[in-house]
Amino acid sequence: MQIYRLPALSDNYIFLLHDADRQIAAVVDPAKAEPVLKRLQELQAELVAIFNTHHHGDHVGGNVRLLNAFPQAIVYGGTDDRGRIPRQQVFLQEGNRVTFGDRVAEVLFVPGHTRAHIAYYFPPSKPGDLGELFCGDTLFAGGCGRLFEGTPAQMVNSLSKIRELPDRTRVWCAHEYTLKNLQFALTVDQQNPDLQARYELVKGMRDRSEATVPSLLGDEKRTNPFLRWEQPNLQARVKSQDPVQTFARLRGMKDQF
Ligand code: ZN
Ligand code: FE
Repeated sequence: MQIYRLPALSDNYIFLLHDADRQIAAVVDPAKAEPVLKRLQELQAELVAIFNTHHHGDHVGGNVRLLNAFPQAIVYGGTDDRGRIPRQQVFLQEGNRVTFGDRVAEVLFVPGHTRAHIAYYFPPSKPGDLGELFCGDTLFAGGCGRLFEGTPAQMVNSLSKIRELPDRTRVWCAHEYTLKNLQFALTVDQQNPDLQARYELVKGMRDRSEATVPSLLGDEKRTNPFLRWEQPNLQARVKSQDPVQTFARLRGMKDQF
């Protein structure tokens, strides 16, 4: 399975999954149809699936136009997004599995950014390979999504599920927010040498207009403050010893950053 990252709108990424042997493709969170249709044409691939993580317009905006071109494609989303994702046909919950070519993704229910948000996790196809996580606006490189419809406790629970996945998992998040996220992270975790090094790396990449997505989950665990609510220095920074309250206060500070 080859994964293509297609930029869209101001800072969204659309991900196109391609199975060259079968000449089929699937798309994760098509903000727009045009870049997807163009790449499908170049690949001479048939679109068989649209995997939506949540209902926001910058994640589902291309659904209808893609279906006009590929009426047989199946639209997947979370069960609680019923009525909010255009032309949704499959209503997924935690533990469900979805197939693309010879790969099978596990569905994680990860509410917080929205109340229905799901993520798709493809375990490595053979030992030594990387896993692939499509997490929409739940976990970002260096940050996490805003809480529009969920509580801090829900988001901590959701991020905990993601944190249990192997370090060698690529995190395909839906926005290029990494530099700003790491600038915030440095204000709450400045003594973290892994974070300092990552900031310098990402700064250079953005200066060269390179994408910073995907990241590696192992790097997120070491540097992303929104996976580190148990770290004593972060708890001290927000004057709490409670994981959920620590997370909530960090998220509140980021909202103001
Ligand atoms: Zn969103
Ligand atoms: Fe978004």
